[in-house]
Amino acid sequence: MRFDEKTRFEGRICRFVEEMITPALYPERMQLAVAVWRVPDEPVPFAEARAAEYAPFTLGSPWGVAWSTEWFHLTGEVPTEWRDRDLEVVIDLGFHKWLDGGQAEGLAYRPDGSIIKAIEPYNRYLKVEPGTEQIDIYLEGASNPDVAVDQNTWRESPYTSKEHRPHTPVYVFRSCDLAVRDHEVAAFASDIDVLWQLAQVLPETSPRRASIIAALARAIDVTAPEDVPGTVMAGRAALADVLASPANASSHTLVATGHAHIDSAWLWPVRETIRKCARTWSNVLELLKENQDLTFSASSAQQYQWMKDHYPQVWERLKEAVAEGRFIPVGGMWVESDTNMPGSEAMARQFVAGQRFFREELGVHCNEVWLPDSFGYSGALPQIARGAGTQWFLTQKLSWNETNTMPHHSFNWEGIDGSRIFTHFPPVDSYVSGLSAADLDKAERQYSEAGHGTQSLIPFGYGDGGGGPTREMVARAERQADLEGSPRVKLGRPADFFAEARAELHSPSTWTGEMYLETHRGTYTSQVKTKQGNRRSEHALHAAELWAATAAVREDVGYPYEQLESLWHTVLLLQFHDILPGSSIAWVHREAEAEYERVLGGCAEIVDVAVQRLVGQGKLALVANATPVALNGAAPMAITRAAAADAAPTTVTSEAGRTVLDNGLLRVVIDSRGLITSLLDLVADRELIAGGEGALLFQVHGDRPTMYEAWDIDAAYRRQVEDLCQADSIEPIDAESVRVTHTYRSSTIDATVALRPATRAVDVTVDVDWQEARRLLKLAIPVDVKSDLAASETQFGHVMRPTYVNTTWDEARYETVAHRWVLVDEAGYGIAVINDSTYGYDIRRTWADDDSAPATTIRASVIHGPKFPDPDCDMGEHTMRYRIVAGASFDDAVREAWEMNLPNTPVTGGREVSPLIEVTGNGCVVQTVKLAEDRSGDVVVRLYESNGGRTAATVRAAFDHTGVMATNLLEEANGDQIDVADDGLVHIEMRPFQIVTLRFTREGGQVTHTARSRALDS
Ligand SMILES: [Zn+2]
Repeated sequence: MRFDEKTRFEGRICRFVEEMITPALYPERMQLAVAVWRVPDEPVPFAEARAAEYAPFTLGSPWGVAWSTEWFHLTGEVPTEWRDRDLEVVIDLGFHKWLDGGQAEGLAYRPDGSIIKAIEPYNRYLKVEPGTEQIDIYLEGASNPDVAVDQNTWRESPYTSKEHRPHTPVYVFRSCDLAVRDHEVAAFASDIDVLWQLAQVLPETSPRRASIIAALARAIDVTAPEDVPGTVMAGRAALADVLASPANASSHTLVATGHAHIDSAWLWPVRETIRKCARTWSNVLELLKENQDLTFSASSAQQYQWMKDHYPQVWERLKEAVAEGRFIPVGGMWVESDTNMPGSEAMARQFVAGQRFFREELGVHCNEVWLPDSFGYSGALPQIARGAGTQWFLTQKLSWNETNTMPHHSFNWEGIDGSRIFTHFPPVDSYVSGLSAADLDKAERQYSEAGHGTQSLIPFGYGDGGGGPTREMVARAERQADLEGSPRVKLGRPADFFAEARAELHSPSTWTGEMYLETHRGTYTSQVKTKQGNRRSEHALHAAELWAATAAVREDVGYPYEQLESLWHTVLLLQFHDILPGSSIAWVHREAEAEYERVLGGCAEIVDVAVQRLVGQGKLALVANATPVALNGAAPMAITRAAAADAAPTTVTSEAGRTVLDNGLLRVVIDSRGLITSLLDLVADRELIAGGEGALLFQVHGDRPTMYEAWDIDAAYRRQVEDLCQADSIEPIDAESVRVTHTYRSSTIDATVALRPATRAVDVTVDVDWQEARRLLKLAIPVDVKSDLAASETQFGHVMRPTYVNTTWDEARYETVAHRWVLVDEAGYGIAVINDSTYGYDIRRTWADDDSAPATTIRASVIHGPKFPDPDCDMGEHTMRYRIVAGASFDDAVREAWEMNLPNTPVTGGREVSPLIEVTGNGCVVQTVKLAEDRSGDVVVRLYESNGGRTAATVRAAFDHTGVMATNLLEEANGDQIDVADDGLVHIEMRPFQIVTLRFTREGGQVTHTARSRALDS
């Protein structure tokens, strides 16, 4: 290479592209006339916008108060001499370079209301039909603000809700032109783009790099500055040879499918996601028409449902593209949910609802789980995913790990029950690739299975807020299909990739247990009201389904299929990976709180109708126990007479600064600091509080994550801690409880400690009024148990994690997720902590100052309090409950978790109601009783083994049925044999953490909609 090429080339090619090629893409332009109508508030349908009165608008003027909508009417006469040329309308709404999906967007319509396509930051054109004489376009401009203000700083934002936004426009409508497109110049631009990018990733000493640069230099030489269109063919010819040189025989292959990650809510509200789907998918449908090899993969049945409901045009076109196999539903879930926190049934229902929608509406069954962005993956997922009929699993999020690198890209993932699913992490470490040479190079270099496998998947297209693939990206794919120095890019389908990738790996490695994400540890705690809404709603739905099914079978009451489906869909949407984790703007979370209220109201209505019909008229004092466990004398899933309490009462005494609660089974001592210094198990004759320690210790940590406040708890948080060891007051409340009050800066924390008669459990109700920014409140319970592993409830079982820190993997797991309970034990003696609201914990080996025997400290994360992206996150009053259970087994933990989260409810009526389903078998838990999704009236019962052991269970269905079969989660027979005895008793052998779904068929079980409506009206 000549000296001048080597040293000056970068500047030369950049200037060539900027000054000669880019302007020549549109050699002729004509400004269009623009008029505007500002929508008074929320978005309106096209017809309303079309009928509105428009005012003249001067291009170059500001528009768009944050979150507002402005309709632009674009008009102009097409010059006669242009009418047979390739014309486009090219629009710049004032785009900036940050967050392609988190800024202004527009959707363009013809005057008849048909959608043309969208205008996006990196997709700014509308094609003009040949022969058009008059441009007449309506553009719905969505002024979505850059919430991560000041270009990606992720600091406190003024745009987090509509109420508090500044009322000044945030965009300038820069330009709107009718322009002639030179496709040959565009192709030349793509040639240069691909070759120059490739040259930059090749080694400096590479002959291939030298030949590419030489060819690019020749292309520049032969392109005349004053006549780019006239010399472009010569320029392209200069590059033909280097573009035609084929890939190395052993180069990696990337299977590329178009994609647009569209967060169902995040830095925008749910209503904007609906418009985002319409915009992105309209563009994709256009692009698919132009490129026959391109496919597009999109997850989330909810987003398809939105198109069906709100954008029937997009829906109809989309259905055609799905039928052609070009637009590919993936994932089989209702949304790309979080998987750490959704409860057992909800995690299953993400798939049940998703697969059902795709099958019924589009005739498609998804074979893969598609969760590129969720924040860690529970160990229960492999079994749930397989049970929902999927064979493959995709994510890339673990590339975000801060400490450790996952060892595989294509491997088997084994869950807590031993189920395995073939899993792929695209080694490009991205779900928003633009197919740049740097991305392809990274994927090839990082691919862990090199030598055994040859291919990886690359989803490409702008994302997070949508956008999707562009014609420039497709041009890159075409040129990199077989190009020397580059991995091969093959446009293809995820299903083809997975099948081939699995087939070519002789013996894939296995990763066992949860896939913990070593970042975003704050998401188990942020937005406590959203978390509580989820927890309450999951349990309310459990009760609603149980009682509605019982009433349908016993009393022929119509089963509220539609209401339950709608309520479930709401809860499933809110489990989206930026809503339940608490990482959305204020708007999203306030809306979520209101939605949860609606869900709870809906469930209460269903329960009320069902239970009233079941118990009939009368004056008996009854209790309804909707849980699968016996509670306070009430049989599981039954309504029985209220049992009279007959136990030794608790005593509360105060003396010499010590307050003592005693119920004959436990004795609790609270000292003058407000700490539980002794918790004596009088049955086991054992002290449970580690020597010298105090339980019920509130600790406040400084918590200023470097980057993502709502998401993260950085490791440094542990170095700043204040212990609250000076209670304002300690006062008995009644015969069995004591209130300890703390003040911390502007906040108050009341902990009510209660010891109910006849229990080996201490209840702690925390009432907090939190006013602190960026401080993490923890509740510490150090217990005198040397437990190497701590159990935390996850879906359909529990996960065991080390309490010690041997490796960097242990160290990085400094904040973990648990559902309703955690348990630590040493041979035969366990202590469980149950909760009704929270999910974040750290459970670690600890030592007293005197270095005496080790203990285990369970710390619940109570409040997080980040300021971005919701400055009001976690502020104000909250109540959460905890229960410390002495001498607890897994069975006890499960029972107490149900009791705390779904307590018995008093009912007045004329008769008791026996359970529909009776189950025996140690550890066998009934998760759900419902009627079948297909509305046949069949009864579906979902059970699981909860201890991690083997159990021989029996199930008695106390109702008329014609048969029983084992099914997958989708309620289809799975071929497992069921052993039914002569007396109808079903015998099942259950493996550790196995989920079993039984379907009891019923004759004439079909319930009409009319019957349902009548039941609810009555
Ligand atoms: Zn996402």
